[in-house]
Amino acid sequence: MSRHFLQVALPVPLRKTFDYRIPATFSELPALGARVKVPFGPRDLIGIVTGISDHTDTPEDKLKFAKALLDPVAVFPEPVMELLLRAARYYHYPVGEVFDTALPALLRQGDDLFENPIHWRLTHSGRALDRHALRNAPKQLIAWDGLLLHGEHGISEDFLTHMGIGRDSLNALARKGLAESFGETRQSFTHPRFQLSEAPLVANAEQTAAIEAITGKLGHFQPFLLEGITGSGKTEVYLQAVEACLRRHQQVLILVPEIGLTPQIVSRFRARFATDIALLHSGLTERERLKAWRRAFLGHAGIVIGTRSSLFTPMPHLGLIIVDEEHDLSFKQQEGFRYHARDLAVMRGQLQGCPVVLGSATPSLETLGNARSGRYEHLVLQERAASAQAPDIKLIDLRGQKLRGGLTDALHRAIALRLNHDEQVLVFINRRGFAPVLLCHDCGWQAVCPRCDARTTLHRDPVRLHCHHCGYSERPPKQCPSCQSEELRAIGAGTVRVEESLKELFPKADVHRIDRDSTRRKDSWQNLYDQVAKGNAAILVGTQMLAKGHHFPNVTLVALLEADSGLLGADFRAGERVAQLITQVAGRAGRAHKAGLVLLQTHQPDHALLKQLLNGGYSAFADVALEERRQIGLPPYGHLALLRAEANAPELALQFLQEAVTQGQALGNEPEFWGPIPAPMEKKAGVYRAHLLLKSGNRPALHHFLDGWLPLLPNLPTAKRIRWTLDVDPQET
Ligand code: ADP
Ligand code: ZN
Ligand code: ZN
Repeated sequence: MSRHFLQVALPVPLRKTFDYRIPATFSELPALGARVKVPFGPRDLIGIVTGISDHTDTPEDKLKFAKALLDPVAVFPEPVMELLLRAARYYHYPVGEVFDTALPALLRQGDDLFENPIHWRLTHSGRALDRHALRNAPKQLIAWDGLLLHGEHGISEDFLTHMGIGRDSLNALARKGLAESFGETRQSFTHPRFQLSEAPLVANAEQTAAIEAITGKLGHFQPFLLEGITGSGKTEVYLQAVEACLRRHQQVLILVPEIGLTPQIVSRFRARFATDIALLHSGLTERERLKAWRRAFLGHAGIVIGTRSSLFTPMPHLGLIIVDEEHDLSFKQQEGFRYHARDLAVMRGQLQGCPVVLGSATPSLETLGNARSGRYEHLVLQERAASAQAPDIKLIDLRGQKLRGGLTDALHRAIALRLNHDEQVLVFINRRGFAPVLLCHDCGWQAVCPRCDARTTLHRDPVRLHCHHCGYSERPPKQCPSCQSEELRAIGAGTVRVEESLKELFPKADVHRIDRDSTRRKDSWQNLYDQVAKGNAAILVGTQMLAKGHHFPNVTLVALLEADSGLLGADFRAGERVAQLITQVAGRAGRAHKAGLVLLQTHQPDHALLKQLLNGGYSAFADVALEERRQIGLPPYGHLALLRAEANAPELALQFLQEAVTQGQALGNEPEFWGPIPAPMEKKAGVYRAHLLLKSGNRPALHHFLDGWLPLLPNLPTAKRIRWTLDVDPQET
C-alpha cells in the first residue's frame, strides 16, 4: 500500500492536484472521492482524493505523508466526481476550488460524513477479560486498553486511528468476541420510500403527452424542454413524473431559482408525497444544510429541492432532474467558479443516465435553440390547465402624459375599476429604494458613488444614499455640492415611493409592498403571502420577485409602470430579458377563471420587440431573436468566453487584455476577439475593469484554444499588476 501515491485536489487557486504518500495508519486504501487531511506548506488542508497511482512525478524525498483519511466512503461518488472534474475542465477553473463549491461548509471543515460515524467499544466479555490474556498480542492489548478507557459509549474509529490503533487489531478483537463496532457504514445507504398523500389531478391531453414522454425515458438520458405559460400545468407534469420516478425507488433532484420566494412549489410536493423531502437553500444554517445533504447522500430523501449549488448533491439513486424556471439568471454563479447549474444539470443527467426536464414559460434562447435543433425534446403546454383565460396585453403611451405617482390617467382608472370589483392589482416596478436618484433642480447635479461609475439610490429609514454596486453609503447633502442650491429632489419611482403614491391615490385600498427589503425577514414573505391569498381588494407593489412563479388567484390586472427601461441595455441579451420579464409578469394576471388584463406603460410603443411580443407572444419574439443571433453568430449559434481584468489604476486592465490578444494571435487558430473594452461600469468600488470577449463557432476549438492560452496569461508583462478571471458562457457581457 505504501507503494501507492494519492493524488489530492486541494482548495487552492492552482490548476493541479498534489501527490502524497500513504501512511501506515491508513487501514485501507482511500476511496476515490474521499476526504483526506494533508500537510500543505505550514498548515493542514482537507482535500479530495482524485486518484491513486503507483507512480509520481514528484521526487520521493519531497513527498509528504497524508495525515488522516476522513471518510470510509467517497463524499463524491463516481458520477458526481466525474461531473465535477468535467466542470473544472469546461469552466477552466481550479479543480480543488470546484470541489469546495460542491461540498457543504461543515464537511469542508472536517465534520464527519456520517451523522453516527463508526465507533468501537468492548463487548460484555471484552470488559470482563483478564489483561494477561492478551500479553502475546501487544497491538490488541493497546487497542483493548484504549477501548476499556472509553466505556460503553465507545470511541470513534477515526480517533482510534489517530492514536495509532489500526483496524487490524480491532478486527482481531472483534473476531474473539471482545469488541464490536456500531454506527453508520456503507450498509446505511438505502432507497427512498414514499406514499401518495393525495390523488394526482386528471391530466389533460397535453399534460398526458408530456408525462408519458418523460416517464418513457426514465432510466435513460434525455433532456426535455417543458414550455408552458404560467398556469398551464407544468408543476402537475413535474408531480406525476416525480411519482413515476419514486415508484422505481429512485430519487428526484429539483432545482429552483430561490426557495424562500417560492414556498408554493415545496408545499405542493409536500401535499402530494409522503416522503423525505430535503430542502437545500441559502436560508439554512450550516448544520441544517449538512443534515439535509446527508439524507440526500444516503438515499433517504426521495425528493431534493434546492437552489443552484444543490446540483452537486450526491444522490445514490438519482432518477430524474428537474430545473424549474430554467431561464432564471440565478442558476449562473456570478463569481468565483462561474458555472451554470442548468447546463451542468444536463451534463449530470448524461453521466447518471436519467432524464432532465427544463421547465419555463419563457425559455432561454440557448435552450430553445437546443430544442429546435432536436438535441432536447420539446414538450409544449398551450392551454391554461384550469381553463383560465390568457390575459389581454395593452400598451399605454407614456410620451407627453401627465403622471401622478408614476401612473397615467388611463392606468389610474383601470386600477380603480378593479378595486371596485373587489379584485387585486399588481403594480410592477423594476427598482428598489425610495427614489433612485437625488438630483439638483437648478443645475442638474446628481448624487453619484465616489467609488463607482454609478448613481446612488436614496433610501429612507434611515435617510441615506446607497450605492447598490459596492455597498457605499452616505448621508444626503442638504445643499447641492455643485451650485449650493437647496432644491434637491428625489427623481424616479422606487417601490417605496410608488407604495406611498398608491396609498394617497387609493386611500381605501390595502397596499402591500413586496421586494427584497420588505421580505428580508425569514417569515415575513409567508405572512404577506397569506394575507394576500385571502383575496380581498388590494394593490401589490413589487419588483422582479413578484414575477417568479407565485399564485395570486385574485389578481386580474397587472401593470408595468415602465416596460422599456431594459430595452436599451448594452448586453445582447437585454431584449431577451425584457421579453421574459413582461411575459412572466403578465402570467400573474387572470388565473382561476378570471380574465386578466396587462397594461404596459412605455415611452417606446413602436419598439419592434414590444410589438412582436404583443402580437405573437414569447415564441414569436424568440423566432426573431434567434434569427438575429444566428446572423451575428451569438449564442446559441456561437460560443463565448469572457476574460475580465481589473486593476487599481485606469488603463492597466485594458493594457493586460491587449497583451492577451497579442499572445492569443501568436498561437494561431484563435477565436474572434471582441475588445478589449472598458466594462459597462468601468469603475466599481474603486477598481477599474475591462472585458475581452472571445467568440467561436466551434465549442471544442474554443476550449482547445483556452487550454493553450490561459497558462500563458500569468507571464504577460502587466499580469502581476492586475487580477483576471475567465467566464465561460457568460450571462452578462
Ligand atoms: P404552472 O406550474 O405551469 O404554473 P400549475 O401546475 O401550477 O401550472 O397549474 C396551474 C393551476 O392549474 C393549479 O392550480 C393546478 O392545480 C391546476 N391544474 C393543473 N393541471 C390541472 C389538471 N389537469 N386539471 C385540473 N387542474 C389542473
Ligand atoms: Zn445644483
Ligand atoms: Zn459604489
